[in-house]
Amino acid sequence: MSPTSPNSVPLENSQEGPVKEPSPVHPPSKVGVVGAGIAGISAAIRLAVAGAEVHVFDQNSYTGGKLTAFILGGYRFDAGPSLFTLPHLVDELFALAGRSPREHFDYHSLDRVCTYYWPDGTALAMHSSVEQNEAEIKRVFGERESRAVRAYFEAARKKYDLTAPFFLEQSLHRMRTFLDKRVLKVLTSLPALGLLNTLDKENKNHFRDPRLVQLFNRYATYNGSSPYQTPGIMQMITHLEHGLGAFLPVGGMHEISQSLTRLAQDLGVTFHLGERVERIVVEQGKVQGLEAAGRVYAFDQVVCNSDVKHAYTHLLPKEVKRPAKTLAQQPSSSALIFYWGIGAKFDKTDVHTIFFSEDYQREFERIHNNGPFWEDPTIYVHVTSKVEPQDAPEHGENWFVMINVPADQGQDWDRIIPMARAKILERLSKELDTDVEQLIEVEDVLEPRTIASRTSSVGGALYGTSSNDRMAAFLRHPNKKNNVEGLYFCGGSAHPGGGVPLCLLSGKIAAEWWQDDNQ
Ligand code: FAD
Repeated sequence: MSPTSPNSVPLENSQEGPVKEPSPVHPPSKVGVVGAGIAGISAAIRLAVAGAEVHVFDQNSYTGGKLTAFILGGYRFDAGPSLFTLPHLVDELFALAGRSPREHFDYHSLDRVCTYYWPDGTALAMHSSVEQNEAEIKRVFGERESRAVRAYFEAARKKYDLTAPFFLEQSLHRMRTFLDKRVLKVLTSLPALGLLNTLDKENKNHFRDPRLVQLFNRYATYNGSSPYQTPGIMQMITHLEHGLGAFLPVGGMHEISQSLTRLAQDLGVTFHLGERVERIVVEQGKVQGLEAAGRVYAFDQVVCNSDVKHAYTHLLPKEVKRPAKTLAQQPSSSALIFYWGIGAKFDKTDVHTIFFSEDYQREFERIHNNGPFWEDPTIYVHVTSKVEPQDAPEHGENWFVMINVPADQGQDWDRIIPMARAKILERLSKELDTDVEQLIEVEDVLEPRTIASRTSSVGGALYGTSSNDRMAAFLRHPNKKNNVEGLYFCGGSAHPGGGVPLCLLSGKIAAEWWQDDNQ
């Protein structure tokens, strides 16, 4: 009989003499998670596997936060993320729970990752294989740039391999991360990592052709930053797509959050949907529970997956010390997305297609300074029906058309959105040699205000805080709160930052820290 079984009676108790107390029976820790974003779900799964009783609260009637989807007039759209990298981070959650990942979640590997078009008529298809990219760049830009791209990908790989195990996969706020001998190698390599350069300068060091500089500058947007401000170490992001591969889940991006929600439910996690958390209850420096939908729930610990600014402004008592520098960080950029059910099919567009602006630097200055960023934006078109034909009627395609915009600071979006729409339609119609507006059968729009109201992300920032500051990685919120016992953080505004893979990692780091503290 197990020593924790409620029916176990220690032999000593039936004998004469001093009665020895049975060893205490530890009920499982009860943990509340604020937010069913991908990081909150990831943490919940890990906590449940570790034996906790887990309750996840979300103000929405669905799980996934930004990682959601909808159907409109026969067209299915992924509402948020569109590019999927590092699928092993999803697989490892199924494996951890003793499930075979492929039985619950599967994905297509994209051979052609993204097709780029420049205003001067240049076209370039980028693949997941370095050899194919070299050949294609040689064909379009010549021998010199083809050699440069090989060196560039190699440098990106090195930066990723050197830093990811420490800066992305572990807490930057735990001494043990820095006790690892390999960290010394990272620290001595700092000058070569490009921390003192901007990504734009790093790219100009590699490429002579401004179109290739623009292409590789674009990776700054993968965490909502500007290539003219974010450090050159961000070069490593290209390694994710072109070294480790780009993918699309079977059933669309939404399947990431849905399959993990099903796994969490299967493990006994309770989802309280439509329950907005009003307050995290903290007494005498210790978490006691949370209040949601007018009810107080007692919890031993709370994991907060909401935006950290939202948490400090609305959820935590004033006595909890605010991390001033962290909260002063610039939000990442936001997005304006048109979802168009298009009643035609095009060969020129791919699963991921980019139509570059004429002047990239001006585009980012406009985003940064709230200038007319809608005048000549880089346009991203994402069409899942190219590989998932059921996402659109047979005669059409499901277009997700996005431009980068600043986070909401009270701009007049009702005036901006129609102007941006007109510019986008003008450019796409020219590129595709057809009147695109005439082909729109159904339409919806997502913009910074709606992103903010649906996810509590301040300003509708896509990735929490930007990485425009070279210290950004160190200024993100830690995955555990100092001075408040039992409070953990995960999600795009906590370490290691935004984007689906990093959010999965933040749930992992928070859950592992919880496990170290509680088991
Ligand atoms: P979120 O998705 O922000 O969810 C937080 C959840 O917490 C929400 O459901 C919210 O309702 C809930 N919540 C907050 N406060 C409370 C409260 N008080 N009470 C109850 N519930 C609360 N990433 C990529 O990797 N690739 C991409 O291609 C990509 N493209 C993107 C495109 C768009 C349009 C958007 C919006 C995002 C994109 N991202 C992309 C970023 C990615 O979606 C996010 O970084 C990630 O999904 C954020 O997850 P999260 O766990 O931080 O939580």
